[in-house]
Amino acid sequence: MTGGADIERVRTIADLRRCIAEWRAAGLSIGLVPTMGALHEGHLALVEAAVGGCDRTIVTLFVNPAQFGPNEDFAVYPRDEDRDAGLVTRAGADLLFAPNVDEVYPPDHATQVHVSGLGDILEGEHRPGFFTGVATVVSKLLLQSLPDRAYFGEKDYQQLCVIRRLTRDLDIPVSIAGVKTVREEDGLALSSRNAYLTTAERAVAPVLHGTIAQVAEQVGRGEDPRDQAQWAIDQLRRAGFGDVDYVTVRNAETLQEAVDASLPARVLAAAWLGKARLIDNVAV
Ligand code: AMP
Repeated sequence: MTGGADIERVRTIADLRRCIAEWRAAGLSIGLVPTMGALHEGHLALVEAAVGGCDRTIVTLFVNPAQFGPNEDFAVYPRDEDRDAGLVTRAGADLLFAPNVDEVYPPDHATQVHVSGLGDILEGEHRPGFFTGVATVVSKLLLQSLPDRAYFGEKDYQQLCVIRRLTRDLDIPVSIAGVKTVREEDGLALSSRNAYLTTAERAVAPVLHGTIAQVAEQVGRGEDPRDQAQWAIDQLRRAGFGDVDYVTVRNAETLQEAVDASLPARVLAAAWLGKARLIDNVAV
């Protein structure tokens, strides 16, 4: 069902702020859910968390060109605003902010937000410029709307860490909420890019979650994180994955190599399966 898209849609920052000013005047709290569209149950879990935690929920729909590399899928990234509008309406959101690229990045736009260190490792190393694109657009979205709380998925765990860091460093007065990863029954994390998997690849894809879940369990029992990560890489290759960009156990906050077993840790992984690059992570 895709009809009944009755949510209010705004395209400009001025209109967005007008709407928010009315809500603020009425004393209402505001939640923000940034997305690139092609929405699935994972995104809707963020919307539901915002609807449950705030009086009004804004969903943003913007395929951010700044976070795609030259050889990445910006041009073909799935876009269907009417479908997405219907989904967030039914999930209880109040406003859809869907700006054009020029509204977000006027031709003379010159400022970037770069989170050094945290944004340069793992995904940052394999996708140069990615986190600068993410950090810049998220900073702008937060400052455009100044919600009480903004919601992001643990699915993109390093992104969540980068966003927490930039809000703290730039003194942006918004609290950042992380929402648990929504998975298919077989463990595969929901992702708009799962659509790139063939039927045969889709059958192999859950091995990623299964493998890092085993690493988390073994490391939790005191096994060596590096040995476990190497085991996982071999396991993924045997299952039919192509390049494994990384499987690694890191401190859950700094994402430095987890050395202190008494601190929270996270297993993070990125691996290619056919045309799809899958990422996932679990807590130790
Ligand atoms: P995207 O549209 O891919 O940029 O994702 C928008 C937001 O949805 C980000 O905060 C993601 O972390 C979150 N998200 C994507 N997939 C999932 C999932 N399977 N479970 C929970 N959150 C997700």
